[in-house]
Amino acid sequence: MPSDAHMVIVGAGLAGARASAELREAGFDGAITLIANEPHAPYDRPPLSKAVLLKEKALGDCALFGDTFFADHAIDLKLAVSVVGIDRACRAALLDNGERIGYSRLLLATGASPRTLSVPGSELPGVVTLRTVDDARDLATRLHHGQRVAIIGGGFIGLEVASSAIAAGCSVTVIEAGERLLMRAVPQEIAARIEARHRKAGVQFRFGAQLAAIAGASAAEEVRLADGEVIHCDTVVVGIGAVPRTALAQAAGLDVAEGIVVDDHLCTSDHDIFAAGDVCSFPHPLYGRRVRLECWKNADDQGRHAARNMLGEGLRYREVPWFWSDQYDLSIQIAGLPAFASHVVVRETSDALLLFHLSADGSLIAASGIGGAMGRDIRIAQILIGRNARLSAEELADPSVKLKSLLVAETA
Ligand code: FAD
Ligand code: NAP
Repeated sequence: MPSDAHMVIVGAGLAGARASAELREAGFDGAITLIANEPHAPYDRPPLSKAVLLKEKALGDCALFGDTFFADHAIDLKLAVSVVGIDRACRAALLDNGERIGYSRLLLATGASPRTLSVPGSELPGVVTLRTVDDARDLATRLHHGQRVAIIGGGFIGLEVASSAIAAGCSVTVIEAGERLLMRAVPQEIAARIEARHRKAGVQFRFGAQLAAIAGASAAEEVRLADGEVIHCDTVVVGIGAVPRTALAQAAGLDVAEGIVVDDHLCTSDHDIFAAGDVCSFPHPLYGRRVRLECWKNADDQGRHAARNMLGEGLRYREVPWFWSDQYDLSIQIAGLPAFASHVVVRETSDALLLFHLSADGSLIAASGIGGAMGRDIRIAQILIGRNARLSAEELADPSVKLKSLLVAETA
């Protein structure tokens, strides 16, 4: 890259901020502009539903980098400014303050925003979502002893908020449209253990529930279901999924389909524009299909990767997906994508349940775990998944066979 090159990054979430740091890490010494429509320096989202609501971590401690990082690395961080257009012919980003910033390469790391409800009463005060520091500040003030919290959606936001709300002394009802929790991302056996732990803590569930309305005189007071049930509440937390922020890419004429479409180098249909993180729909070589992931590691990996390719390194993206969730004393981790497996091998130990998800030809394509000391096994499984390893179902099921030994045998 010539030293007068200018890298412009839209969105200063994890993917965008990581990309800006990686550009410097890789030795790029031209101009970098990182544009954030939020008023805060880049911060981490995972603590917002866990440590922040549990009051174990202050919002100020969620920053991704130290106070002087961006200045020290000559990264021009622009806060509270939105990119509203891309002039591809002139290679310029257009800002809502009227500024025009020319780019050599552009990264779209615009993330996702919470899906919103459309039933009557959805706009009432007290109906909240959780995505930003400001959302977490508001929700934290609502979670205290005796408050009744209705949670719409039994996904990650819903369940992590439920466990934080229980810890704060609230009563909690989770209203889920599907027949079980975490239908898309988590296998049934693990979802069942999560549900049991929530029930033990006192959480009430409604499955297969259709929402009719949210009602209240001047703020949300009740959630009305289509079957006539009324759930009284002080706060309604809506956690019904996230929608990729593709409007900018779409308006610029880039390929968009359930996310910004990129190739295996994270390059969009314009070779000077890249995309990374929650917004990005990419081909995964391990699964032979296009996926869009909404998890921390993916945003982190893709931010780094896109930065390298913006500099012309030409690296193919093939990281094994991994994510975690913490609820109460439970730790949940999943490596790979279990949904694409054809059969499952179960390994049970005294304090953990591990599932190995195999393809029809016996290759390990995902592993999921819940309980105590399973993080190490999931990490080993992640390596095996990356190698497309074919493993014996008997050995995988046998807790006396150390996974590490399978790794060594597979390497030999
Ligand atoms: P985002 O974090 O959404 O960042 C995109 C940024 O771009 C936003 O600040 C957005 O406002 C900005 N932007 C958008 N459009 C523009 C524009 N036109 N101009 C300027 N700026 C723009 N994952 C896990 O694996 N484990 C967890 O435990 C976990 N916990 C989570 C808890 C919460 C509460 C949330 C919300 C998410 C959690 N995640 C977790 C998911 C993980 O945080 C996300 O996958 C990750 O943050 C995605 O990063 P991103 O940079 O792609 O997008
Ligand atoms: P999510 O995990 O996709 O879960 C949404 C849940 O709500 C799904 O079970 C969905 O069911 C259900 N639902 C959808 N519409 C509904 C309705 N009208 N009524 C009742 N239930 C409904 O999304 P999320 O929990 O909202 O999380 C938002 C984002 O934050 C995601 O990107 C997520 O990955 C991220 N996040 C991740 C973590 C983590 O990885 N630990 C933690 C917190 C947040 P169907 O599947 O049947 O539609």
